Amino acid sequence: MAKPSEADQLRETLQSLKLDCMADTVEALCEQAAKETWTYATFLTRLLSEELAAREHRRLAVTTKMAHLPFHKTLAQFDFAFQPSVDKRRIQELASLRFVASGSNVLFLGPPGVGKTHLAIGLGLKALEAGLSTYFVSVPELIDQISQDAQRGQLLKRMQQLCKPRVLILDEMGYLPLERPIATFLFQLVAKRYEKGAIILSSNKSFSEWGDLFTDQVLATALLDRLLHHCTLINIRGQSYRLKEKRQSGVFQPPPALEATAAEPS
Ligand code: ADP
Ligand code: MG
Repeated sequence: MAKPSEADQLRETLQSLKLDCMADTVEALCEQAAKETWTYATFLTRLLSEELAAREHRRLAVTTKMAHLPFHKTLAQFDFAFQPSVDKRRIQELASLRFVASGSNVLFLGPPGVGKTHLAIGLGLKALEAGLSTYFVSVPELIDQISQDAQRGQLLKRMQQLCKPRVLILDEMGYLPLERPIATFLFQLVAKRYEKGAIILSSNKSFSEWGDLFTDQVLATALLDRLLHHCTLINIRGQSYRLKEKRQSGVFQPPPALEATAAEPS
């Protein structure tokens, strides 16, 4: 065990080196090392591991905050039995993050409430854990941001921000029509990230409806061409999880449009 003055000095030295976790744990570890007759190497390894784990924890907290996820849901929390059209093995393969390394994309298509955003976030959390920068933005939110950026002359800055992360999650494509400047911006974004940065996109619209969504068939086709070239498509055909309990209790009778599969691969 370190003598009181030695222990104080050790703690202060570690604090001045900004090794706060080591400073907090060094005394207890010294005692444990003496009791269990650790070698110097074991002691040092244990001490450094504590610091490393604390730093990793802090890094993850910061990058997760920066990722701007709307809620925190993991892949482990996804009930695959409820949504049999989602093949668990395909999601597990995506969770290996090989698609990020190759700059491929993931598309979740399907009606509202079937877990598109949940799965996108689950993959985002996996990427963050692996130390890959991730950023989430919904397309309706992006539409607002882009129109403000256009007025302030800051579109280039926005483009750079969205090109930077290794994984970009574009959620809810299709809920709002895309006017020409937005459609052009999205096309440029997909073109710039093509084969370089992974995109995870969710949409309630089938590809055949994207022409109308973009109000320009040629632009929509050019965007889809790049998006789908290297892409895993997860087409979810099923019932809304949100309405599950309401449906079970008989409170809610969904309109046929919600029950139908909204998206099909073209
Ligand atoms: P979508 O993006 O397809 O509209 P969400 O991913 O937002 O749907 O899902 C709606 C809510 O239901 C979320 O709270 C999500 O966590 C939950 N949810 C959806 N599907 C499942 C599932 N299969 N297992 C567990 N939770 C689910
Ligand atoms: Mg969603």
